[in-house]
Amino acid sequence: MRTVYLNGAYLPENEANISIFDRGFLFADGVYEVTTVVDGKLIGFEGHIQRLQRSLDELSFGHKIDREELLGIHRELVSLNGIDQGMIYLQITRGNPGDRDFAFPPADTPVTMVLFTQEKQVVGTSVEANGLKIISVEDLRWGRRDIKTVQLLYPSLAKMEAKARGADDAWLLQDGFVTEGTSNNAYIVNGGKIITRDLSKDILHGITRKSVLDCARLLQMEVEERPFTLKEAYGADEAFVTSASGFTNPVVEIDGKTIGTGKPGPVGDKLRQLYLEENRKAAL
Ligand code: PMP
Repeated sequence: MRTVYLNGAYLPENEANISIFDRGFLFADGVYEVTTVVDGKLIGFEGHIQRLQRSLDELSFGHKIDREELLGIHRELVSLNGIDQGMIYLQITRGNPGDRDFAFPPADTPVTMVLFTQEKQVVGTSVEANGLKIISVEDLRWGRRDIKTVQLLYPSLAKMEAKARGADDAWLLQDGFVTEGTSNNAYIVNGGKIITRDLSKDILHGITRKSVLDCARLLQMEVEERPFTLKEAYGADEAFVTSASGFTNPVVEIDGKTIGTGKPGPVGDKLRQLYLEENRKAAL
């Protein structure tokens, strides 16, 4: 059984309980981060911590996170659960006001903070070797996708739609342009140029996105940050996605159309290699 963290205590997972009045449960009033563990160490920790504080600030939580405390909790959970490869999930909600009310509770209401580990192979996966089949669906999420909130029902529905249609995942479309994947950022490669949507409120500012684009520049690859259409994606030489737990993963099919050769492409492969190398060196 896992040991999890809840509001200051390390507990067996079946003893970690949260109130039915918790704002996370009633209003999806919470934010989260997922940090990947490789060789028992944390990948991209600083980026996740900074984005977490930004998400809290954008939603007026008035809660300041303590980097050292959070690093300590992450490391303790890795150690207590003997994680070599996997993820640490962290969620902070606006706490338990003791009733249901749309208005925020008083500022001194303590937040609820939960962390737990998920063991999962992240290096040398079959997805990395074979690539993903993607479908496209309308992006029906709210207008602040740059905030990493726990309201994930639409991405979850889109993922189910993909599974029902024999695919692995979905890319989301706004006015004919791809915003991002259900839980990753989306890229195409055309004539050696990497194209990915520019940062705005339309997409999550991926921690992996930033690191992978830094790697691309190190490799002197050309990067263009702009929206791309589905049509462009169909005709691309290569496509891939990035996320903390997937690093870069190839996309080999979109809406039943083969992308490039139908095999993982060289640009995505190179970026994955360098990303892993750099981030393993910097892991905490
Ligand atoms: N976009 C969305 C909608 C996501 O849920 C995720 C995964 N959290 C990402 C992009 C990738 O972000 P990151 O690289 O920080 O995991």
